[in-house]
Amino acid sequence: MDSELVRHWAMAGFLPAFRKLFESAAWTEYTHPLEYSSGTIWPSVNTGVSPLRHGFYSLFRFCEGTYRLRLARADDVRGDPFWKWFARRGKRIVIADVPFAIPKSEFGGKQFWGWNQHDSWAWRRSSIPSDFLSGLSREFGPPLAKSCKDYPIRTRPLLQLKRALLEAIRRRTAMLKSLLLLPDWDLFYAAYTETHCAGHRMWHLGDESHPQHSREQLAVVGHGLREVYQAIDQSLNELLECADENTTSLIFLSHGMGPNFHAAHLFPEFLERFNRSWEEKMLHHFGRHGHDGWFESAWQKSVWRLPVSWRNRVKYLLPVRMREWLTLQRYQASRQWSRELSFSLPKDGFSAVRVNMANREPDGRVQHGAEYRSYTESLLAELIQLTNAEHAQPVVDGIFRVDQQMNPARIGGGSDLVVWWKKQRPINALHSPTLGLIERPQSGDHTGEHVMRGAMIVSHPKAERGEHTIPGMNIPDVTATICQLGGVRPESAIAGSSRCSQLLSETPSIGHVPGAD
Ligand SMILES: [Zn+2]
Ligand SMILES: [Zn+2]
Repeated sequence: MDSELVRHWAMAGFLPAFRKLFESAAWTEYTHPLEYSSGTIWPSVNTGVSPLRHGFYSLFRFCEGTYRLRLARADDVRGDPFWKWFARRGKRIVIADVPFAIPKSEFGGKQFWGWNQHDSWAWRRSSIPSDFLSGLSREFGPPLAKSCKDYPIRTRPLLQLKRALLEAIRRRTAMLKSLLLLPDWDLFYAAYTETHCAGHRMWHLGDESHPQHSREQLAVVGHGLREVYQAIDQSLNELLECADENTTSLIFLSHGMGPNFHAAHLFPEFLERFNRSWEEKMLHHFGRHGHDGWFESAWQKSVWRLPVSWRNRVKYLLPVRMREWLTLQRYQASRQWSRELSFSLPKDGFSAVRVNMANREPDGRVQHGAEYRSYTESLLAELIQLTNAEHAQPVVDGIFRVDQQMNPARIGGGSDLVVWWKKQRPINALHSPTLGLIERPQSGDHTGEHVMRGAMIVSHPKAERGEHTIPGMNIPDVTATICQLGGVRPESAIAGSSRCSQLLSETPSIGHVPGAD
């Protein structure tokens, strides 16, 4: 959920449960550091380490030692989940459909994954005990029949999506309440993913400045995103009412949403031009054609020539897994990447550069050390000069440079640079003073895209009520705070600190690590 929207709608009276929490609990909002992106947030909360340590980034995973991509899986996340430490301390756990949280018998308790996940590609539906999830689905209703990505951004499908998400929230809440009311747990960890789906597909409904906003559509569909947030607010109220006065509740908003404006679709060509110029080649060598993988070239010569309405009709007939596989094939460009100085990795709403580094990549071209630094710095200098050609405003919001945090030779399948684009307006053309104009309208079905801000709310008898500004607050701090509130010491180093001392008037004590004495 987006923390700004939650605050705004809570103050406007749409979210009474959140409003009550903002008044009675201790809470803080924070911006995620630049190396975090949406796919990294849940693995970081679950393990308490940064993306550079858990090594999980997004759906399309770059395979180190090759120039290939593959579909990622939840077991690509490195590190132990924090509930392992709870389980080893004898605490009884319930892990209820939390993104990237794979059920494992060694943790015991009740665990399920895949009842309704936005990132359903990450794992297979499963549970501990093995028949637990099927029993829940029988009792409370099955998950959604379709992914949010199966609903085109048109009035009727959006109305259907809104109804489906509201029904999923209702069923999930009934399921969670029934589990919360049982006296057999010490740690209860659950997530709602429906707000993520609504943020991507329905952002434009309430954003009058969005190019896809339509009054007619709004009149029929209603404020879909706000209604989904309201349903979550009502659910939160019901869940909190299940807890007695001895229960501590920690609510966190993983990341936010905003309009889906970026230059990720223009970035591969920008990078190619930059690489040509760095090689001091002639400007007229510029151009995309011939630089894509064979699948993408064939795709552009065939499928891309069909009318858009035909393409979309066929697209929505294919299962979402098939569409993901086809998209993966379109991104594959091993031969081209092996010859380049660097290449762009596919990301959602931001851009990432993998330098073709010698002794890291099979056919690396940029030497580790001075050459890598010089290349990276030239690229950074070029990036910060980029403007939106339609408005002459800078387009780069922030850049993460991995070599400032670790040795770039050891980044696994990660990126050397991450580029965040400003979201104020659509970016249909980039202008570079040295590399010229790069033009192509953005396409795609997401009208909303991730914004890297989050919030943590702690409801506790000793809470210092109201908003707290916590400099340096970060996702692994959420993990550390959960552990301290549960009286459990992490068994391996996590990258954050508990914030209990800033949020509570009395800090809970932490037990010993088993076997550490
Ligand atoms: Zn979804
Ligand atoms: Zn997303």
